[in-house]
Amino acid sequence: MMFSTVMRPALLAAARSPRVERTVTGMASTRKVVRRFVAGESEAHAAHATAALLESGRYASIDYLGEDTTDLEQARATVAHYLTLLESLAELPGAAGEVRPLEVSLKLSALGQSLPRDGQAIALEHAQKICAAAAAAGVWVTVDAEDHTTTDSTLAVVRALRADFPWVGTVLQAYLLRTEGDCRDLSGPGSRIRLCKGAYREPAGVAYQHRDEIDASYLRCLDILMRGQGYPMVATHDPLMLEAAFGYVRSARRDPDRFEFQMLYGIRDEEQRRLVATCAHLRTYVPYGDQWYGYFMRRLAERPANLAFFLRSFGPG
Ligand code: FAD
Repeated sequence: MMFSTVMRPALLAAARSPRVERTVTGMASTRKVVRRFVAGESEAHAAHATAALLESGRYASIDYLGEDTTDLEQARATVAHYLTLLESLAELPGAAGEVRPLEVSLKLSALGQSLPRDGQAIALEHAQKICAAAAAAGVWVTVDAEDHTTTDSTLAVVRALRADFPWVGTVLQAYLLRTEGDCRDLSGPGSRIRLCKGAYREPAGVAYQHRDEIDASYLRCLDILMRGQGYPMVATHDPLMLEAAFGYVRSARRDPDRFEFQMLYGIRDEEQRRLVATCAHLRTYVPYGDQWYGYFMRRLAERPANLAFFLRSFGPG
């Protein structure tokens, strides 16, 4: 209780504080802990981790870390990282059927969405370049969900991208009050929706605040997506959500090729392998890059055990 009412909001606020960022990223012991959740700093590290996942029967979605870019040059540098990444991914084993084993995940705020003038148009142009390179490499693209102030803009960019690249997917967050409606709107033929609970600190006017409400919303949204005509991507580590997903799959008579599970790199690795052994598609989200701070803090905010693991790193050894 203390964790969700005190620690989680404090960690999520710290995730956006440049002052705390300087302190946390400056600590030598932090880097060791970060490596549990982040595959490394370079495209070579990301490709290496991805190859190992493919070898174990898992699929991967690779994310070049970065967000809240306020500088056009930095947004262009992010595009360049994705293009280099896609060149490395093109050398890994490709698609056998309709489901592509490799995907990249993008945050539009890293591509310029929040730039003061024409941010949305700039992010769209950057995402189009990445999608064209992904198409050539046989790799899917999914656009991540960020805080609620960006949701309308992100869905507009995704709609525009899908006009040229109909396989582009996006993410809906069950904690937002609007998401059940978005699931209904976006569960048509050809859609690819990743459903997650949501990782940002959101006000009560737009988001459920209590765990039970968020879980109930997740289940309603999952049911809609599973009964829909698209390709649901069930992104959660929660055993209750996973069990419910199998139930919805059975009642909607979904073929195993028409949905997938997704989990984060470094989290519930055994469970990831177990799901693959049940013949389900399991995609691991692989973040890499040196701007890991915001991502790392959101992982600490999710679970007391993650925070304890971090705090233990200050101990002897
Ligand atoms: P929680 O509610 O955090 O935990 C529920 C239960 O799951 C726990 O009680 C425990 O039993 C089990 N569990 C959770 N973590 C662990 C663990 N480390 N070890 C053992 N058991 C555990 N959020 C966004 O806002 N935007 C995005 O674009 C986005 N993309 C994502 C992509 C993927 C592939 C995934 C998996 C998550 C993504 N998220 C994203 C994060 C997501 O919103 C949640 O913050 C995060 O997944 C934690 O929620 P949960 O459903 O896993 O379960």
